[in-house]
Amino acid sequence: MKKNSLRFLQTHTSMANVIDELAPGVFEEVYKDERGVVPYNLFVETVEQVPIAISITDKKAKILYVNEEFIRVTGYQPEDVLGQNESLLSDKRTPRDVYHDLWHTISSKKVWHGKLCNRHKFGRRYLADLTIAPILNEQGTIAYYIGMHRDITESYESEKIGINQKLLIESVLNASPIAMVVIDNEDRVILDNHNYKALVSDLDKGEPAHYFLKLLRDEMGDLWSELQGKEQGFNNREYKVETKGGQHTLWFSCAGNWFIENEVNVDAFFENTSKQYLILTITDITRQRKHIEELHIQTLKTMMAEDERVRSIRETLLGAMHQIHLPMNQIRAAEQILRHKRDDQNAGLLQILQEIQQSGEEAVATMQKCIPEILQAALIPINLNQILHEVLLLSHQKLWSHGIDVHWVPLSSLPKMLGSENRLRILFKQLIDNAIEALSGSDCQEQHLRITTDQDADLIYVSIEDSGPGIPVEKRAKVFEPFYSTRSKGGNQAGMGLVMAKEIVIQHQGFIEIDPSFDQGCRFKISFPLRRHVSKE
Ligand code: FAD
Repeated sequence: MKKNSLRFLQTHTSMANVIDELAPGVFEEVYKDERGVVPYNLFVETVEQVPIAISITDKKAKILYVNEEFIRVTGYQPEDVLGQNESLLSDKRTPRDVYHDLWHTISSKKVWHGKLCNRHKFGRRYLADLTIAPILNEQGTIAYYIGMHRDITESYESEKIGINQKLLIESVLNASPIAMVVIDNEDRVILDNHNYKALVSDLDKGEPAHYFLKLLRDEMGDLWSELQGKEQGFNNREYKVETKGGQHTLWFSCAGNWFIENEVNVDAFFENTSKQYLILTITDITRQRKHIEELHIQTLKTMMAEDERVRSIRETLLGAMHQIHLPMNQIRAAEQILRHKRDDQNAGLLQILQEIQQSGEEAVATMQKCIPEILQAALIPINLNQILHEVLLLSHQKLWSHGIDVHWVPLSSLPKMLGSENRLRILFKQLIDNAIEALSGSDCQEQHLRITTDQDADLIYVSIEDSGPGIPVEKRAKVFEPFYSTRSKGGNQAGMGLVMAKEIVIQHQGFIEIDPSFDQGCRFKISFPLRRHVSKE
């Protein structure tokens, strides 16, 4: 049979013909075992027609048989390949150790599966997904090999394109200076870039995506699901983030875009299901924020300097007018006494007194005209934490140069109150400047300034406390009087600072006092009503 087979193999292409010649009548036979019963010719027809390239070789890979699909895939006709080695198909690009592994496997009676680079008869290279199985004879030794392969060039190329696209997307994402993350509809991180990964350690808030998603959802409320439903993006959502132990304050701007992707898993093969994803970009805008804040502080400084100058002139003139009223009243009283006496001897004195009174009144009137007007400030909802923060920034240089330790303890969610931003800034600036002055003049070892905000159902509280020498009990009421100063040489406002501070507090229907229970320095306690409108200036 072996002798015959060679002759037939050289002249026949059809396996049926070969077998028929080798074993006449075999097709009438039936194959039967526990897995079923089929005619032999069905096996043969199956191998002939199966849509996978099949070749049967001897132990040295010399081709004995090829099926229809082999002819189609390789381009070779049977007469081209029968009796040739399978190496005929090799493109000579496959590394030697792949063949070594192939032969080592199949000669150990095992099945080898792998990919080889083959060459089509007309020169085109293709990627073959190949399985080679040894066929054993009755003695259990290898008699033949069967090779089955498919041309997987197209699927390999599209898989490679997919991988390349993914790599390209990843490298574009990684090159971006912005942190980017793709989140699925169960808030799982699907893809992220280097900058996003850096946020994980920089922020110390667990998964940064979850942290920012919570901030966004809390802030946007129903708008979040509305935008998600319409697949409309959002941007410029800015958040302040305190890093590890409140050491640093960072600012981030978030933007997001939803997109739909068709599912690729088997479950979605018949039902075209899709999944929604969110691309979240997180930009560190701390530098820009700081820059804006610096500009804002600069503007505030200019505004406040001008305001302070106007107020200083105003308070000084008002104070002077107040001081003049006392002798004027005495002169008026003296004049009335003299007039009552109707004494001609004092007519000259009466005349002088009248003239003094008149020139005094003229001086007061002139002063009155010189009092600069303060423009009415708009009343707007104000967050006192923000105002105090700005004032601390304004005073930063002074505090730092005097080595004063600042404890700023704001209530995290302080409600807004209606007031005049600028006036309140002046109020707190005055109190903080007073504290700095008191601390710098004292020789106490620990120099600290502590500012807190708090609230209850009706009031907002601000406490400004310094560890300076404090104000003696007997002088506490007087410091709110015009032209009273505990300082020997007087300050900028010549004892009008606290008068002005009190005036601002009263205009906001608030209350200011020096805490009588505090004896380790000076503590000003200020309270403002939460829900009452303030009267205009
Ligand atoms: P070769 O000199 O043929 O062999 C290279 C190395 O393979 C040798 O160094 C040795 O380690 C090992 N080797 C070769 N022959 C034997 C052997 N008889 N016993 C033990 N080790 C041996 N190759 C393809 O490139 N494409 C195919 O589609 C393909 N299909 C095959 C199908 C079957 C059923 C079989 C049995 C082999 C098939 N081969 C195929 C392998 C092929 O026979 C060659 O081994 C391979 O192409 C390398 O050819 P070569 O001329 O470069 O080197």
